[in-house]
Amino acid sequence: MTKLYAMNNIPILTLPIKPSSYQKTGMFLSPVFAYFLAKKLNGKNITFLNLLDTYKNQVDYIPKFTDTCQRLGIVTNSSFSDLYMKSKLFDKVDILASQGYIYSDKRDIIICSCGKIDCLKESLHSRTGKTNYTCFDIPTCKLCHEKCKIIEKDVLLLKPPTLDIDKYFFFPTYSTKDFVELNTKFHTREILISKQRDTNIHYKLGKNTYNLDIDFFWANYASLWQNKQKIILGSQRSIYPLFLVNALQKLHNPDNETFTILFPYMQNKHSIDIDKELECLDNDKIKAMYLLYSIKFKDKISNWDPNALNSIKKLTQAEIDNIYQELINPISLKDGTLFRQSVLNSINQLNIRNIIQINRKSNKKFQVPWSVRKNDNFLQSEM
Ligand SMILES: [Zn+2]
Repeated sequence: MTKLYAMNNIPILTLPIKPSSYQKTGMFLSPVFAYFLAKKLNGKNITFLNLLDTYKNQVDYIPKFTDTCQRLGIVTNSSFSDLYMKSKLFDKVDILASQGYIYSDKRDIIICSCGKIDCLKESLHSRTGKTNYTCFDIPTCKLCHEKCKIIEKDVLLLKPPTLDIDKYFFFPTYSTKDFVELNTKFHTREILISKQRDTNIHYKLGKNTYNLDIDFFWANYASLWQNKQKIILGSQRSIYPLFLVNALQKLHNPDNETFTILFPYMQNKHSIDIDKELECLDNDKIKAMYLLYSIKFKDKISNWDPNALNSIKKLTQAEIDNIYQELINPISLKDGTLFRQSVLNSINQLNIRNIIQINRKSNKKFQVPWSVRKNDNFLQSEM
């Protein structure tokens, strides 16, 4: 485990975000958190966009996305995307192929006529979470409503490495269990990384040219940064992509350390019109603070909270300025502070609920006794 030194410009990467015509406010949690975490650690926040798509032109939605980021008062750079960094990502795929991690072979695949379902036959019964299937024997596609076929095809495969979980940090720490499970599952498995449909990401290996799976292609992105330490931000609904990113990171940079932060998936049980509410909040600081306030790491699924909005609205301008200053103050890094501990301390210092509570309780000039809140258990139970 290595130490983190100030000014090392550590990259704080969002899992690639897909801009769209309908933007869920939850998708801005990671760019906002990355922005503040970068302030704490003297790092650089990178909002990475997933613009490659078989079905839609994602580029059209960038202005709307960057506009929302601006309204939240965070600086993003839309030049970081799988589209604009395509040739560098191809270089990474070349390296994996030259080292034998990527190979072609014949396999039975299950495929529907529109190409939405396209997976290895053996992975069918083990899929979890969101699927495009309506049943598990011979599935029918929800998109084209056609029954799938099993056919033998020449495909591209990846043999994922086994992660040495002790070297990979996950926050909240209870999420480590999910990665251990995936690690065990893929210990003896292959991952299908080509598709039969035209993904427009063509890759030649041997005599044949394949359509690369876009989700595999961008998952190589973390290795585009040379730094030895990296922070990756995603959601509880993105555990598999986060696993794949970490696995590819291990193949590309085995000596690197990554710290993965998982945000709760945000629901809207109270039907809050977030966009309208954000419009009503008249300054950027308070908008970003509302998103931070909504993050409760102890939950895998969370809800936009009307009380949170009310609490934020009640803050005086002086309180807003004080809290914001606390949020952007860098942590003091002493020689010998470990990478993991530095990130944990920074996450702790972004716990805006505590800042407000302590401020109210003490009811005196704004002061935050950070030293009393350092352990991991506290982080999980209180945020
Ligand atoms: Zn289909």
